[in-house]
Amino acid sequence: MEFYEKIGVTRIINASETYTKLGGSLMSETTLEAMREAAGAFVDMDCLLDQVCARAAEITGNEAAFVTTGASGGVILSAAACMVEGSMSGASEEVLLECFPDASAFEKNEFLVFDGEFLESVPYWKLLKLTGGKVVPVKPVLDGIREAVTGRTAAFVLFPSPLYERGIPTCEEAIPVLKELSVPVIVDASAQLPPPSNLSYYSRKLGADAVIFSGGKHIRGPQSTGLIVGRKNLMSLCRKLASPHERLGRGFKTGKEELAGFLAALEEFVLTPREDVFNRQQALLDIIQSYIEANVSKEISIKRQDMGRLGTYQPLLLLSLPEGKTAGECNKYTRSLQKPVDIGTYTKEFRMPENLIFLNAYNLKGEEEAYLVARAVTEYIELN
Ligand SMILES: *Cc1c(COP(=O)(O)O)cnc(C)c1O
Repeated sequence: MEFYEKIGVTRIINASETYTKLGGSLMSETTLEAMREAAGAFVDMDCLLDQVCARAAEITGNEAAFVTTGASGGVILSAAACMVEGSMSGASEEVLLECFPDASAFEKNEFLVFDGEFLESVPYWKLLKLTGGKVVPVKPVLDGIREAVTGRTAAFVLFPSPLYERGIPTCEEAIPVLKELSVPVIVDASAQLPPPSNLSYYSRKLGADAVIFSGGKHIRGPQSTGLIVGRKNLMSLCRKLASPHERLGRGFKTGKEELAGFLAALEEFVLTPREDVFNRQQALLDIIQSYIEANVSKEISIKRQDMGRLGTYQPLLLLSLPEGKTAGECNKYTRSLQKPVDIGTYTKEFRMPENLIFLNAYNLKGEEEAYLVARAVTEYIELN
């Protein structure tokens, strides 16, 4: 912990989410040990990447997988792979792989995304443009898909979650239509964990061609890792674009330490009984709830739910602050404490009341932090 003090950066207690801006999640001892071990030797990186990707496919129950730098790297690489795969009638694969970011070399260089308010709530579609390709918004109804697909369509990109899919077709509705039209489907499911079964749900059950997850969010791998799972040929194209080649993916190079850490975290994520993780979170939320209920004199209401902010399977504590108080002000206060606490606030697209906060215990280290969270929130509520 000395590092953060030495460099003059304050530690934050994370009672909100696996937000990248806070550092995502914390790696387990097993994961850290795997990274330390990997750091102690040289290996053939080509061989390591092949083995790690094969193992990731096996663990997640997919045909193939590719490990890269964050879900963002995954979005860019899988999009690029779709451009290459779709454009092979005009040029050879070898030539196409070298062309990025010149999209004019590709017969298929457009990405379709549903239009609507969700484009603002999930800005990650902008990453698609880094391939050189163009993003085309589609009328957010099933018929809109048929009208929008052209000879230039490289892939349709979907973002699951009850928030992003509000008012637009869901993955379950859109993917069958896209399959029928033989349009490649990319699903950015970065934060759609748990349950771990989602690691194969969109690809195996729904038939998406490439599905992307963040390694540094719920999986608790290194922050700089991400996973693509899906069809073998697309994963193999991602691999060909990646390091050690001097191509688009060279900018998303994973080191041996990250590869080892990601795999250890993925194994742990899949093998740890979900009830254990869920119950641990519940127990910490119980502590927080009891403390607040015992120490707050003002009128508040607390609710618990078994669903995370984006519809994932994890417990949340929802607290309505007293009249006149807002979630934004609450977080400003708790973040200003000597031991700063980040509490959950809903952004406007959730259309939640201004005085509603959420608390998520996934990133809390233990009971001591739970009490610090409870005290911070209580103090804010009691302020006049
Ligand atoms: C977090 C997130 C990303 C980016 O993930 P990184 O691992 O930080 O690159 C992309 N898409 C969605 C939907 C996300 O939630």
